[in-house]
Amino acid sequence: MSSARKIHLLGLPQDNNSSFLAGAALAPRRIREAFHCSSANLFTETGFDLNDSSFWNDAGDVDLDGLSGVAAFTAIKQKVAELIKSGGQVLSLGGDHSVAYPVISAHLDRYPDLSILHIDAHPDLYENMLDNTYSHASPFARLMETGQVKRLVQVGIRTLNRHQREQSERYNVEIHEMRDLSGICSISFSGPVYLSFDLDALDPAFAPGVSHYEPGGLSTRDVLNLIHSFGGQLVGADVVELNPLRDPADITAMVAAKICKELMGRMLLDVT
Ligand code: MN
Ligand code: MN
Repeated sequence: MSSARKIHLLGLPQDNNSSFLAGAALAPRRIREAFHCSSANLFTETGFDLNDSSFWNDAGDVDLDGLSGVAAFTAIKQKVAELIKSGGQVLSLGGDHSVAYPVISAHLDRYPDLSILHIDAHPDLYENMLDNTYSHASPFARLMETGQVKRLVQVGIRTLNRHQREQSERYNVEIHEMRDLSGICSISFSGPVYLSFDLDALDPAFAPGVSHYEPGGLSTRDVLNLIHSFGGQLVGADVVELNPLRDPADITAMVAAKICKELMGRMLLDVT
């Protein structure tokens, strides 16, 4: 097995850029527990047996103890860059969504023609939220202003206000709002794709363990179908915004683990 097919699972226990509630820093451990829970198995729906240790390894958590702002982002970006340098893929477990900025920045350095598929209730395009430009409401504004992102396609959005609509126009973001999902069957990219998945894209009925409830969202099946079907080559992904403090019976942790398995299956399918 070439190292190009090695997926690195990486925990990012950070929630100090969350604008509303803490808790997401506890997520990596809970997702790992759900991932390995013996109530399920480690086959992807697409047929990969994740018991095979040549497919992936657990790179542990980035040590973010006591770090915030630029220092935390530097530590995250360095670790991700180190893991993908050899040609492997990273699947990171947030953490609040602010981690997408350093994680995707590392991918942009490695893949100059990178497109982003962003699944979320929120566009996360705020120029500045609560005087924190690194807020979990802003990572895609920070990424788009680098000018390095080929395309940003968002799915599941149902919270556009005037500011974020203007931001989406400023940065030519392609948005598939919840009120019209008719185009998501044909989402297709040329070249490498990074997928950023915020669990609050799901309807709270499917994923109650998140900080921001936004009813009227995607089903778990909608997301799995999109992961299986979009056109392009998946080279990296994150699963963010699980808040275990709001997750009765670990329902959302199991959803996150399921999504992780299918993201890993898609990466294994795409990377030759
Ligand atoms: Mn988000
Ligand atoms: Mn969100």
